Amino acid sequence: MHEVGIMESALTVITREARAHHAQRVERITLRIGAISGVEPDALRFAFEAVSPGSVADGAKLVIRRVPARAHCRECDKDFTIESGFIFQCPRCHAFSGDVRAGRELELARLEFVTPSTTPRHVH
Ligand SMILES: [Zn+2]
Repeated sequence: MHEVGIMESALTVITREARAHHAQRVERITLRIGAISGVEPDALRFAFEAVSPGSVADGAKLVIRRVPARAHCRECDKDFTIESGFIFQCPRCHAFSGDVRAGRELELARLEFVTPSTTPRHVH
């Protein structure tokens, strides 16, 4: 389950950001996960539960935003939605396309901290 490794590296970044902002703890973590990123949101939540205890993100709310996947058809010069796989077929003209424009995201979109002096702050 590579989600644990992903969550561990995310936590490294989150811990560094929290220190930089003198945060006491992390209130909320928002991740953007593409539909064909190969990452399962449920497995990611499970990994977070496994690696976050004792860290600055202990007890933080994990928000996962799914990014729909899209590929581009050169024939139609339009994007179309894709579900899974590696080779995609345009629903209009049935041409094959490997030109993926969205859906492979695996990003830390937003962190919200609790600092000694303030209520939760939004940091991009
Ligand atoms: Zn097409």
